[in-house]
Amino acid sequence: MITTERLTKRFGDLEVLKGINLQVEKGQVLCVIGPSGSGKSTLLRCLNLLETPTSGKITVGGATVSFGDKSPREREIRALRGKTGMVFQNFNLFPHKTALENVIEGPLVVKRADKSRMQERGRQLLAKVGLADKEDAYPSQLSGGQQQRVAIARALGMEPEVLLFDEPTSALDPELIGEVLVTMKELAEENQTMVIVTHEMGFARDVSDQVIFMDGGTIVESGEPTQIFSNPEQERTRQFLAKLL
Ligand code: ADP
Ligand code: MG
Repeated sequence: MITTERLTKRFGDLEVLKGINLQVEKGQVLCVIGPSGSGKSTLLRCLNLLETPTSGKITVGGATVSFGDKSPREREIRALRGKTGMVFQNFNLFPHKTALENVIEGPLVVKRADKSRMQERGRQLLAKVGLADKEDAYPSQLSGGQQQRVAIARALGMEPEVLLFDEPTSALDPELIGEVLVTMKELAEENQTMVIVTHEMGFARDVSDQVIFMDGGTIVESGEPTQIFSNPEQERTRQFLAKLL
């Protein structure tokens, strides 16, 4: 479902991604862990082309884009973007739109979906994330956990093949983290393909099929969660995990 080949990203002289090779199968959950500044967000932003990679190749759901010698075509970029949905740390909801309007805005504008059908689908998506009674609420009237669940429903509204999460619970008060993780776990159980940058190691161990540990713009180690968390091969992985305990 997702592959990257020798993916690099530079900001000026700073090489932030140094040749990332990834593979995620359909229906699998990849958790990305690593210290601050290691390139986790940049990797996610490259996967949906919020950032343009410097070189390498990305394939998502059959859409491939190569970077380097010549710029990719606009049509290729749009095709790849349409395969992914993103959930951000700070929710990024439209403040002047209700929960339901937030969920249906993308499909109405980008896909020119039929409004009444999309409202129906939007209500189903809000119900799916446990917010059936909040369709008319504005973001300011919702808790952080509720806002993040609206953001997840909004991402699902675009029917992406892959959902990308960048530290989705990092901005939440501790008591609100669980409800968002539960929603994400339900999606995993429905075999939604997901890439999740997270510091929630219990969740990563529980839900992921594959974990990668990044440091300094490279994948230091990757493997099944039991291996990474219980028996890491690399000293850097061990040190990172030890600091969290
Ligand atoms: P992480 O998400 O793992 O904390 P990031 O991907 O946000 O790491 O950042 C990796 C490195 O890239 C950091 O050194 C950061 O300062 C740098 N960086 C990220 N975005 C930009 C940008 N737009 N311009 C310049 N440097 C950036
Ligand atoms: Mg980050």
